[in-house]
Amino acid sequence: MPDHPDHHPDHHRLGRELGLFGTDPLIGAGLPYWLPDGATLRHTLEEDIRDRERRAGYRHVYSPVLGKRELYEISGHWDHYRDDMYPAMDLGGEQVVLRPSLCPHHAVIYRSAGRSHRDLPLRLAELGGMYRAELSGVLGGLTRVRAIQLNDAHIFCTPAQVRDEAAAALAMIGDAYRDLGLTGRHRLSLPGPGGKYSGKYVAAPELWRRSVALLREVLDASGLPYDAAEGEAAFYGPKIDVQVADAAGRESTLSTVQIDFHQPERFDLHYTGADGARHRPVMIHRSIIGSIERAAAHLIERHGGAFPAWLAPVQLTVHPIADDQHDAARALADRAAARGLRAEVTGPEHGTLAARVRAARRVPYQAVIGPREAAAGHVALRLRDGQRPDPLPAGDALDRIAARVAARGTALWDGTGHAVR
Ligand SMILES: [Zn+2]
Repeated sequence: MPDHPDHHPDHHRLGRELGLFGTDPLIGAGLPYWLPDGATLRHTLEEDIRDRERRAGYRHVYSPVLGKRELYEISGHWDHYRDDMYPAMDLGGEQVVLRPSLCPHHAVIYRSAGRSHRDLPLRLAELGGMYRAELSGVLGGLTRVRAIQLNDAHIFCTPAQVRDEAAAALAMIGDAYRDLGLTGRHRLSLPGPGGKYSGKYVAAPELWRRSVALLREVLDASGLPYDAAEGEAAFYGPKIDVQVADAAGRESTLSTVQIDFHQPERFDLHYTGADGARHRPVMIHRSIIGSIERAAAHLIERHGGAFPAWLAPVQLTVHPIADDQHDAARALADRAAARGLRAEVTGPEHGTLAARVRAARRVPYQAVIGPREAAAGHVALRLRDGQRPDPLPAGDALDRIAARVAARGTALWDGTGHAVR
């Protein structure tokens, strides 16, 4: 089966069929839950992102999913974004709001200590919850939800560092897309008359001009093709968006890099420069894969449930031909699990060998254990893409699989297997 057929069912149907996520009217519209295989996919994705961020010099923080209304008044969300926010909750004389974004919390964390130019760039990252009061009519699956887990980060830097930091964030997005087997279309999102509602954008023409010029430089230097679109900016600044298409061809934004001169002003952020004076940092908002929900929905549709091996909920399915090989199959799956691989055994109680191989067609690696393999301690692998490497000692086969998984990417095997189709 090819890895990327042209047409896949939408992620709702595949999500149900593959047992990844579900919804229940009693929990509520737009509030999906994650089943064990879906949770494995999500956890793997989240850990991969954290790992990329650690290696790129980001520090991870946690901040609460709600805050006082005043916090969002300062950030500008209350004025410019209130239609998408939940109503405030009265609590002991204060008003508390489910947060519409993580930015204000990270600005406050920046402000929690004195900062010198030597501390910059300070890259704060968080995979955190945020909330959007979507109307129930537009909710569905993982793409229109009311509770969002966002892969977010804010880079606080000097004006001279903005270009390199934004370029590095854009490169991180490209690396992640390569490993995830995704392709996107780059868009420079500008303010303009096409905004959703009047008064959408903060008024500061000079700051907008500087941010747009910087993002254009970053895009031009990257060599990536891009289009510009008016009316698609954030209320506080322009952005580079990476657009992906769903099964029906509808585009949405997955990843983003934004340059923001506005919120550092609103929160009165500063750092001490080499000259000993107080300076205003710039805030770069960036997300590599956007919300976990939307990223998972897109991955499900893009791969038709046949995920890259490192991401697959089950990486290796072991099929004993008959009950006599069950122990040998179990031993192989246990060795795989000890290597950190996700393996399962499907025995004859699940049907004929052909039916079991067919049922596991989305699993990247399958191993059939007959009397000969069980006696020799060998494994004959069948790869999802049709490759059939020569039989290998079990330990060698698991080493090869584990090395591919650790390397990420979409290739299933290093070197040549023997293609059967
Ligand atoms: Zn932000």
